[in-house]
Amino acid sequence: MSCDYIQLANTGVQRLKPYEPGKPIEELQRELGIHDVIKLASNENPLGPSHKALDAARRALDQVHLYPDGAGFELKAALSERLRVDADRLVLGNGSNDVLELVARAYLQPGDEVVFSEYAFAVYPLVTLACSATPVRVESHLYGHDLAAMADAITERTRIVFLANPNNPTGTWFNDHALDAFLARVPEEVLVVLDEAYFEYVEESHYPDGLTRLRDHPNLVVTRTFSKIHGLAGLRVGYGVADPQVADVLNRVRQPFNVNIPALAAAQAALDDHDHIENSKGENAAGLAQLAEGLAELNLERIPSVANFVTFDCGGDALPVYEALLRDGVIVRPLGGYGLPNHLRVTIGTAPENERFLKALGRAMAR
Ligand SMILES: *Cc1c(COP(=O)(O)O)cnc(C)c1O
Repeated sequence: MSCDYIQLANTGVQRLKPYEPGKPIEELQRELGIHDVIKLASNENPLGPSHKALDAARRALDQVHLYPDGAGFELKAALSERLRVDADRLVLGNGSNDVLELVARAYLQPGDEVVFSEYAFAVYPLVTLACSATPVRVESHLYGHDLAAMADAITERTRIVFLANPNNPTGTWFNDHALDAFLARVPEEVLVVLDEAYFEYVEESHYPDGLTRLRDHPNLVVTRTFSKIHGLAGLRVGYGVADPQVADVLNRVRQPFNVNIPALAAAQAALDDHDHIENSKGENAAGLAQLAEGLAELNLERIPSVANFVTFDCGGDALPVYEALLRDGVIVRPLGGYGLPNHLRVTIGTAPENERFLKALGRAMAR
């Protein structure tokens, strides 16, 4: 072959490593011939989707010969009411990852700098490099964001700072004082993307709601998703809330029909399913306690988490533990790609799933 099509890609893309998703259940079933596989690898809701959302999605299927409402009018109206923000501040995404990418595509030029934390969500470097911008990774503090160091890392070339609160894959969070001190130090021409994918799970008293900072900080973009507590990861719906001008820019680069008809309908119904949200939250809090106790019994150190997953230290190379768990039919997430080769991340499941994971982990560690 005479032409190198990797070399032809833009300079950032040449450096990109593909995102590593959690192993699909079907793949493990095919590979090992095991049938009762559980997946605790992608922070999905173990209770499944809201039934109200499912019914709405099923009804909406009758309309799929039509293009969706490209403006997402009804879902935006529902979000606007629920979140108490004007609809012109909203941008809908094919998952919130789509919104993260819109911000990058709309605001980055090759050579611009993008600041994010060590161990932060893998999509930040991905969307940065895809635009041939320069990732600036700031050393973490106790696996969490060091917001003071992140503010120090901002230069004239910085265009975007990505913050995840709580962060994936560490489960760490920062409080309202830390966020406000950080925002006060960021020049208004630098966009701060505050990724709140796990917002609905967090109960800590000083956990900040990014939406309440939008008026004072027009450079702030808050993103949330229907993939986590609402249990709709497979339908791909998320949103961003921003200054109306920023939202206008993001809506210009957005694909006109980026959120499909069943997804729009399901998301709107999910917003109103308070029982599903409360049950999911309760199940998660109980599971977090169950896993904390189980990991302590196995003498494994974990990073304190406020999200729907826990990351723990295997005390050595985590890959053999990951593989032993796979052979036992339990899929978790190895974190070598994040620079945490001794850690594994486990999504909080139902009580029986957590029990099964802990038993399998005990066997894996005893080997
Ligand atoms: C899961 C997750 C998202 C959400 O992704 P979607 O595209 O909405 O499914 C965003 N940010 C973080 C940190 C996440 O863990």
